[in-house]
Amino acid sequence: MSVYLVVFVVLSYFVWIKCIYNRHRRTLVKSLKNVLDVSPGRELDSADIRALIVTAHPDDECMFFAPTIIRLVELNASVHLLCLSEGNYYHQGAQRKQELLNSCAVLGIPGSRVTIVDHKKLPDDPKTEWSVSLVSSVIVKHIRAHSFNMVLTFDGRGVSGHANHIAIHKAVSHLGSSGQVPNDCCLLSLVTVGLIRKYISFLELPLSWLLPSCLLCTTGSQGYRQAKEAMFCHRTQLLWFRHLYIAFSRYMFVNTFQIIPQGPKNLKIY
Ligand SMILES: [Zn+2]
Repeated sequence: MSVYLVVFVVLSYFVWIKCIYNRHRRTLVKSLKNVLDVSPGRELDSADIRALIVTAHPDDECMFFAPTIIRLVELNASVHLLCLSEGNYYHQGAQRKQELLNSCAVLGIPGSRVTIVDHKKLPDDPKTEWSVSLVSSVIVKHIRAHSFNMVLTFDGRGVSGHANHIAIHKAVSHLGSSGQVPNDCCLLSLVTVGLIRKYISFLELPLSWLLPSCLLCTTGSQGYRQAKEAMFCHRTQLLWFRHLYIAFSRYMFVNTFQIIPQGPKNLKIY
Protein backbone atom coordinates (compact mmCIF):
# COMPACT_ATOMS: atom_id res chain seq x y z
CA MET A 1 0.00 0.00 0.00
CA SER A 2 2.77 2.43 1.00
CA VAL A 3 4.58 1.70 -2.29
CA TYR A 4 1.48 2.79 -4.25
CA LEU A 5 1.28 5.90 -2.12
CA VAL A 6 4.93 6.79 -2.83
CA VAL A 7 4.43 6.20 -6.57
CA PHE A 8 1.28 8.35 -6.49
CA VAL A 9 3.05 11.19 -4.67
CA VAL A 10 6.05 11.09 -7.02
CA LEU A 11 3.86 11.02 -10.13
CA SER A 12 1.70 13.86 -8.76
CA TYR A 13 4.83 15.92 -8.12
CA PHE A 14 6.00 15.44 -11.73
CA VAL A 15 2.53 16.32 -13.05
CA TRP A 16 2.59 19.46 -10.87
CA ILE A 17 5.96 20.46 -12.36
CA LYS A 18 4.60 19.92 -15.88
CA CYS A 19 1.50 22.04 -15.09
CA ILE A 20 3.68 24.87 -13.68
CA TYR A 21 5.89 24.72 -16.75
CA ASN A 22 2.90 24.95 -19.13
CA ARG A 23 1.33 27.76 -17.11
CA HIS A 24 4.65 29.63 -16.93
CA ARG A 25 4.74 29.99 -20.71
CA ARG A 26 1.58 32.11 -20.43
CA THR A 27 2.46 34.03 -17.27
CA LEU A 28 5.97 35.05 -18.33
CA VAL A 29 4.64 37.76 -20.65
CA LYS A 30 2.38 39.04 -17.87
CA SER A 31 5.32 39.24 -15.43
CA LEU A 32 7.46 41.04 -18.01
CA LYS A 33 4.66 43.56 -18.58
CA ASN A 34 4.54 44.17 -14.83
CA VAL A 35 8.27 44.72 -14.38
CA LEU A 36 8.48 46.88 -17.52
CA ASP A 37 5.36 48.79 -16.52
CA VAL A 38 3.56 48.12 -19.81
CA SER A 39 -0.13 49.02 -19.51
CA PRO A 40 -2.30 45.90 -19.05
CA GLY A 41 -4.45 46.68 -22.12
CA ARG A 42 -1.47 46.69 -24.47
CA GLU A 43 0.22 43.67 -26.03
CA LEU A 44 3.90 43.21 -25.16
CA ASP A 45 5.94 43.87 -28.27
CA SER A 46 9.42 42.35 -28.68
CA ALA A 47 10.72 45.92 -29.13
CA ASP A 48 9.51 46.64 -25.57
CA ILE A 49 12.27 44.50 -24.09
CA ARG A 50 15.83 45.81 -24.27
CA ALA A 51 17.60 43.66 -21.71
CA LEU A 52 21.14 43.80 -20.40
CA ILE A 53 22.59 40.87 -18.47
CA VAL A 54 25.58 41.97 -16.38
CA THR A 55 28.03 39.25 -15.36
CA ALA A 56 31.53 39.10 -13.92
CA HIS A 57 33.17 36.20 -15.78
CA PRO A 58 32.89 34.22 -19.00
CA ASP A 59 30.59 31.24 -18.12
CA ASP A 60 28.37 33.19 -15.65
CA GLU A 61 25.92 33.74 -18.52
CA CYS A 62 25.21 30.02 -19.01
CA MET A 63 25.88 28.79 -15.46
CA PHE A 64 23.42 31.21 -13.90
CA PHE A 65 21.32 33.13 -16.45
CA ALA A 66 20.66 30.59 -19.23
CA PRO A 67 16.89 30.10 -18.60
CA THR A 68 16.35 33.87 -18.68
CA ILE A 69 18.43 34.49 -21.79
CA ILE A 70 16.77 31.61 -23.64
CA ARG A 71 13.26 32.81 -22.73
CA LEU A 72 13.93 36.45 -23.64
CA VAL A 73 15.52 35.46 -26.96
CA GLU A 74 12.47 33.28 -27.70
CA LEU A 75 10.34 36.41 -27.26
CA ASN A 76 12.57 38.17 -29.85
CA ALA A 77 13.72 40.61 -27.18
CA SER A 78 16.93 42.53 -27.69
CA VAL A 79 19.28 40.78 -25.24
CA HIS A 80 22.81 42.05 -24.60
CA LEU A 81 25.55 40.82 -22.29
CA LEU A 82 28.09 42.90 -20.42
CA CYS A 83 30.84 40.75 -18.89
CA LEU A 84 33.11 42.74 -16.62
CA SER A 85 36.23 40.59 -16.93
CA GLU A 86 37.92 38.27 -19.39
CA GLY A 87 38.17 35.55 -16.76
CA ASN A 88 41.92 35.80 -16.66
CA TYR A 89 42.48 34.16 -13.24
CA TYR A 90 44.49 31.31 -14.81
CA HIS A 91 45.85 33.51 -17.62
CA GLN A 92 43.44 32.07 -20.16
CA GLY A 93 41.72 35.38 -20.94
CA ALA A 94 41.97 35.23 -24.74
CA GLN A 95 40.62 31.69 -24.87
CA ARG A 96 37.85 32.40 -22.40
CA LYS A 97 36.78 35.44 -24.38
CA GLN A 98 36.22 33.25 -27.43
CA GLU A 99 34.45 30.64 -25.30
CA LEU A 100 32.09 33.34 -24.06
CA LEU A 101 31.27 34.45 -27.60
CA ASN A 102 30.60 30.83 -28.59
CA SER A 103 28.39 30.27 -25.55
CA CYS A 104 26.41 33.45 -26.24
CA ALA A 105 25.90 32.37 -29.86
CA VAL A 106 24.40 29.09 -28.60
CA LEU A 107 22.11 30.98 -26.21
CA GLY A 108 21.00 33.33 -29.00
CA ILE A 109 23.06 36.46 -28.26
CA PRO A 110 25.10 37.52 -31.32
CA GLY A 111 28.68 38.69 -30.81
CA SER A 112 27.69 42.26 -31.69
CA ARG A 113 25.62 42.33 -28.49
CA VAL A 114 28.38 41.03 -26.23
CA THR A 115 30.75 43.44 -24.47
CA ILE A 116 33.70 42.05 -22.56
CA VAL A 117 35.52 44.50 -20.32
CA ASP A 118 39.27 44.13 -19.88
CA HIS A 119 40.25 46.56 -17.12
CA LYS A 120 43.29 46.06 -14.87
CA LYS A 121 41.28 47.17 -11.84
CA LEU A 122 38.60 44.56 -12.56
CA PRO A 123 40.56 41.29 -12.47
CA ASP A 124 38.89 37.88 -12.26
CA ASP A 125 39.89 37.33 -8.67
CA PRO A 126 37.71 36.54 -5.64
CA LYS A 127 40.31 38.18 -3.37
CA THR A 128 40.21 41.53 -5.17
CA GLU A 129 37.52 43.99 -4.09
CA TRP A 130 36.15 45.63 -7.24
CA SER A 131 35.52 49.34 -6.85
CA VAL A 132 31.79 50.04 -6.67
CA SER A 133 32.22 53.45 -8.33
CA LEU A 134 34.25 51.99 -11.22
CA VAL A 135 31.80 49.12 -11.82
CA SER A 136 28.84 51.53 -11.54
CA SER A 137 30.31 53.90 -14.09
CA VAL A 138 31.02 51.09 -16.60
CA ILE A 139 27.47 49.75 -16.24
CA VAL A 140 25.65 53.09 -16.37
CA LYS A 141 27.56 54.16 -19.49
CA HIS A 142 26.48 50.93 -21.16
CA ILE A 143 22.85 51.39 -20.06
CA ARG A 144 22.75 54.91 -21.49
CA ALA A 145 24.56 54.01 -24.72
CA HIS A 146 22.04 51.29 -25.58
CA SER A 147 18.88 52.62 -23.85
CA PHE A 148 18.27 49.39 -21.96
CA ASN A 149 15.03 49.18 -20.04
CA MET A 150 15.87 46.06 -18.06
CA VAL A 151 19.12 45.20 -16.28
CA LEU A 152 19.52 41.73 -14.80
CA THR A 153 22.41 40.79 -12.55
CA PHE A 154 23.38 38.97 -9.36
CA ASP A 155 21.86 39.56 -5.96
CA GLY A 156 23.78 40.40 -2.78
CA ARG A 157 24.86 36.76 -2.32
CA GLY A 158 26.06 36.40 -5.91
CA VAL A 159 24.63 32.85 -6.35
CA SER A 160 28.06 31.30 -5.74
CA GLY A 161 29.20 33.92 -3.22
CA HIS A 162 32.01 35.10 -5.55
CA ALA A 163 33.21 38.58 -4.49
CA ASN A 164 33.14 39.84 -8.10
CA HIS A 165 29.44 38.86 -8.47
CA ILE A 166 28.60 40.63 -5.21
CA ALA A 167 30.53 43.74 -6.32
CA ILE A 168 28.29 43.98 -9.41
CA HIS A 169 25.19 43.79 -7.23
CA LYS A 170 26.53 46.54 -4.98
CA ALA A 171 27.27 48.71 -8.03
CA VAL A 172 23.83 48.21 -9.59
CA SER A 173 22.13 48.81 -6.23
CA HIS A 174 24.16 52.00 -5.90
CA LEU A 175 23.02 53.14 -9.36
CA GLY A 176 19.42 52.45 -8.36
CA SER A 177 19.52 54.12 -4.96
CA SER A 178 21.36 57.18 -6.27
CA GLY A 179 18.83 57.68 -9.07
CA GLN A 180 21.35 57.32 -11.89
CA VAL A 181 19.30 54.85 -13.91
CA PRO A 182 16.97 56.12 -16.67
CA ASN A 183 13.31 56.38 -15.67
CA ASP A 184 12.11 53.49 -17.81
CA CYS A 185 14.84 51.06 -16.74
CA CYS A 186 14.09 48.37 -14.16
CA LEU A 187 16.83 46.63 -12.19
CA LEU A 188 16.49 42.96 -11.32
CA SER A 189 18.64 40.67 -9.18
CA LEU A 190 18.93 36.92 -9.64
CA VAL A 191 17.82 35.22 -6.43
CA THR A 192 20.42 33.07 -4.67
CA VAL A 193 18.86 29.94 -3.23
CA GLY A 194 20.18 27.63 -0.50
CA LEU A 195 22.35 24.58 -1.18
CA ILE A 196 19.58 21.97 -1.25
CA ARG A 197 17.32 24.02 -3.56
CA LYS A 198 20.32 24.82 -5.73
CA TYR A 199 21.13 21.19 -6.50
CA ILE A 200 17.78 19.49 -7.04
CA SER A 201 17.56 20.51 -10.69
CA PHE A 202 14.06 21.00 -12.13
CA LEU A 203 12.51 19.45 -9.00
CA GLU A 204 13.01 22.86 -7.42
CA LEU A 205 10.52 24.54 -9.80
CA PRO A 206 7.44 24.27 -7.51
CA LEU A 207 9.29 26.10 -4.72
CA SER A 208 10.31 28.91 -7.06
CA TRP A 209 6.73 29.07 -8.29
CA LEU A 210 5.27 29.29 -4.79
CA LEU A 211 7.75 31.73 -3.28
CA PRO A 212 7.31 35.42 -4.16
CA SER A 213 9.44 36.84 -6.99
CA CYS A 214 8.82 39.48 -9.62
CA LEU A 215 10.00 37.35 -12.53
CA LEU A 216 10.40 33.61 -13.00
CA CYS A 217 12.02 32.13 -16.09
CA THR A 218 12.13 28.40 -16.64
CA THR A 219 13.01 26.21 -19.55
CA GLY A 220 12.12 22.65 -20.52
CA SER A 221 14.29 19.87 -21.88
CA GLN A 222 15.09 21.74 -25.10
CA GLY A 223 16.24 24.84 -23.17
CA TYR A 224 18.27 22.60 -20.88
CA ARG A 225 20.05 21.07 -23.87
CA GLN A 226 20.81 24.59 -25.14
CA ALA A 227 22.16 25.67 -21.73
CA LYS A 228 24.25 22.48 -21.56
CA GLU A 229 25.68 23.12 -25.02
CA ALA A 230 26.58 26.66 -23.94
CA MET A 231 28.30 25.27 -20.83
CA PHE A 232 30.33 22.92 -23.02
CA CYS A 233 31.58 25.93 -25.01
CA HIS A 234 33.62 26.84 -21.90
CA ARG A 235 36.09 24.02 -22.45
CA THR A 236 38.75 25.53 -20.15
CA GLN A 237 36.27 25.29 -17.27
CA LEU A 238 35.01 21.75 -17.80
CA LEU A 239 36.39 20.13 -14.67
CA TRP A 240 34.58 17.18 -13.08
CA PHE A 241 32.50 19.33 -10.74
CA ARG A 242 31.17 21.33 -13.70
CA HIS A 243 29.61 18.15 -15.03
CA LEU A 244 27.89 17.68 -11.66
CA TYR A 245 26.73 21.29 -11.83
CA ILE A 246 25.26 20.73 -15.29
CA ALA A 247 23.46 17.62 -14.07
CA PHE A 248 22.05 18.97 -10.82
CA SER A 249 21.92 22.76 -10.73
CA ARG A 250 18.53 24.38 -10.59
CA TYR A 251 20.01 27.40 -12.42
CA MET A 252 20.17 25.28 -15.57
CA PHE A 253 16.33 25.23 -15.48
CA VAL A 254 15.02 28.00 -13.26
CA ASN A 255 15.80 31.68 -12.58
CA THR A 256 13.88 33.92 -10.22
CA PHE A 257 14.40 37.65 -9.82
CA GLN A 258 13.65 40.39 -7.33
CA ILE A 259 13.42 44.11 -8.05
CA ILE A 260 16.41 46.20 -6.95
CA PRO A 261 14.87 49.32 -5.37
CA GLN A 262 15.49 52.70 -6.99
CA GLY A 263 15.56 56.09 -5.31
CA PRO A 264 14.42 59.45 -6.67
CA LYS A 265 15.97 60.20 -10.06
CA ASN A 266 19.00 62.44 -10.15
CA LEU A 267 17.75 64.84 -12.84
CA LYS A 268 21.14 66.59 -13.16
CA ILE A 269 22.55 63.50 -14.83
CA TYR A 270 20.01 63.53 -17.64
ZN1 LIG B 1 31.47 34.26 -12.06
